[in-house]
Amino acid sequence: MKDWKCVACGCEIKVEDDYEPEYCCSGKDCGCMGRPINPEFCNECEIKIFGEQAIKERDNNELHNT
Ligand SMILES: [Zn+2]
Ligand SMILES: [Zn+2]
Repeated sequence: MKDWKCVACGCEIKVEDDYEPEYCCSGKDCGCMGRPINPEFCNECEIKIFGEQAIKERDNNELHNT
């Protein structure tokens, strides 16, 4: 894991070592707003954005997959 920043609130988070943000474009005249297309969020922002239930389901799936 390596240090990264939550793209929503800017707080410190850990991401996979091989994580690289992928950008659509600079964001000019595009709905991507220059943000990465595979953004990483802290847990708080993940819950805000995806909803608590979605996070729980994802975590459950991860548990079952390992
Ligand atoms: Zn955040
Ligand atoms: Zn774009």
